[in-house]
Amino acid sequence: MSDTVIIGAGPSGLAAAYELTKHGASAMVLETSNKVGGLARTLEHEGCLFDIGPHRFYTKNREVHQLYLDILAEDVVLVKRLTRILYNNRLFDYPLTPLNVVRGLGLAECGLVISAYGLSQIRQYVSPREERTFEDWVTNRFGARLYESFFKNYTEKVWGIPCSHLGADWAAQRIKGLSLPEAARNALFRNNGRVKSLINEFLFPRLGSGQLYEKMRSIIEERGGIVQTNSRVKRILREGGRVRSLVIQGVDGVWSK
Ligand SMILES: Cc1cc2nc3c(=O)[nH]c(=O)nc-3n(C[C@H](O)[C@H](O)[C@H](O)COP(=O)(O)OP(=O)(O)OC[C@H]3O[C@@H](n4cnc5c(N)ncnc54)[C@H](O)[C@@H]3O)c2cc1C
Repeated sequence: MSDTVIIGAGPSGLAAAYELTKHGASAMVLETSNKVGGLARTLEHEGCLFDIGPHRFYTKNREVHQLYLDILAEDVVLVKRLTRILYNNRLFDYPLTPLNVVRGLGLAECGLVISAYGLSQIRQYVSPREERTFEDWVTNRFGARLYESFFKNYTEKVWGIPCSHLGADWAAQRIKGLSLPEAARNALFRNNGRVKSLINEFLFPRLGSGQLYEKMRSIIEERGGIVQTNSRVKRILREGGRVRSLVIQGVDGVWSK
């Protein structure tokens, strides 16, 4: 019986099990789906591999960087970034390029975006509002027009949560250093690499982002850890503030300690 049970074989759960087993501890990971990797998993359809999102890997932490290289070994490749946004049936380069934006949006829409941005700046100057939600944060930096037409849709589709329920700190972390003037500056001049969202090259597993987690799973299992898919944790039973047992769907039942 494992000393530690981890719920979910996404990047966090597998990283925890990887570290525990590396230091000789036992660990069991329970995963509800039939694949490991969580949101970063790779799916196969008719012989093709698909990732759920781009899953660029970029870190300033040397230890995490090394972990990525150690696990993937010969399966890590450096990829030149080509990110494009499909908006109103048109593809926009990301980072933005001025001609591409003007051609895609049209002069009239560009004017509306810039006016809405100007309005938001004046409103912030006259009566600054507290930034509590993702919506507040993005509207202040990009204006209401871009927020409504682009950020709101995109974010709610990807994360499945209304922007009014996502915190401003989360927006600040995801879109750090980026604002409408900054995006325009990056469009006009070469990106100097300072802006977090605009990295030009990134490391990637040869067979998709999920390959990292498949490999992590193998290493955990080689070290004696357990990664059990098709096992949903239904209930966590506690006693005196400590977790005593878990009710698991998919296998006959209960883990207890
Ligand atoms: C479209 C998209 C693009 C992204 N792009 C990037 C990117 O470029 N770079 C980047 O660094 N990050 C990116 N991310 C974010 C990244 O995917 C997440 O930060 C990461 O997957 C979080 O890992 P996690 O293990 O905490 O959670 P998750 O990946 O959500 O994993 C949680 C796991 O727990 C399992 N689980 C849940 N409930 C139970 C239960 N009751 N019992 C058993 N198992 C359970 C789930 O099935 C899942 O496998 C992106 C995310 C999305 C959606």
